[in-house]
Amino acid sequence: MIVDVLTIFPGMFEEPMSASMMGLARERGLLEFRTHDLRDWTHDRHKTTDDDPYGGGPGMVMKPEPLGEAIAAIHELEDEPAHTVFLTPSGRRFDQSIAEELSSHERILFVCGRYEGFDARSHTLADDEISIGDYVLTGGELAAMVVTDAVVRLLPGVLGHEDSAVDESFSSGLLEYPQYTRPAVWNDLEVPEVLRSGDHARIQAWRRRKALELTLERRPDLLNEADLDSVEVEWVRQANGNVDSQPKED
Ligand code: SAM
Repeated sequence: MIVDVLTIFPGMFEEPMSASMMGLARERGLLEFRTHDLRDWTHDRHKTTDDDPYGGGPGMVMKPEPLGEAIAAIHELEDEPAHTVFLTPSGRRFDQSIAEELSSHERILFVCGRYEGFDARSHTLADDEISIGDYVLTGGELAAMVVTDAVVRLLPGVLGHEDSAVDESFSSGLLEYPQYTRPAVWNDLEVPEVLRSGDHARIQAWRRRKALELTLERRPDLLNEADLDSVEVEWVRQANGNVDSQPKED
């Protein structure tokens, strides 16, 4: 996958996009990551990327011309144009299913806003608009990093163990089951016996149930869309009305 980012702060991406799995993905040739400084497409001495808002009001607005020129030039870098994603609080709210959707693209261009955001006409250049949550950041750079990280780790070969992403929170529609590592006892807290039993069927069943319990406790909204079998649906129905009806511990 090729990820291009258009920004006025290309330096912000250096460490996050070189460390850990992003760095490995690049080393393995699974990710080509490039930043582009929007100021390279300005034509004045001060390399201006913003201007006053029409109609008045606080703050500045990103000028559309440098954005238009930059996006056209970045598309031209490869045979196929990039899937162009504007980061904006008014975009569709990012989640795991959008990460999966984006991971199918060969090329993505993330466009990072600053100031009070984009001139409304610039949005005609977007194929997609994404928000990473209901809060306002000072710029789209952190949002572009969040989305890139969530997308790239889904690419085959990026994570060490191919099932790592399959079992995780949200991928099955549920939160992930609790994880433990050595030592078996820490601060008087013991790792559940079932996980040390070596009985894979029991371990699977325990994990599934714990995932269900955790999701019911913390994110019951997810259960509406989760892929549950009829026994699980009945358990959730009962657990919602009666705590005592939860399945017994192993
Ligand atoms: N005036 C805009 C508004 O109220 O919607 C906010 C502009 S914000 C200060 C500047 C830039 O940060 C935005 O253009 C966008 O690129 C980015 N940004 C801010 N919050 C974001 C979010 N929740 N998700 C994605 N990008 C965000």
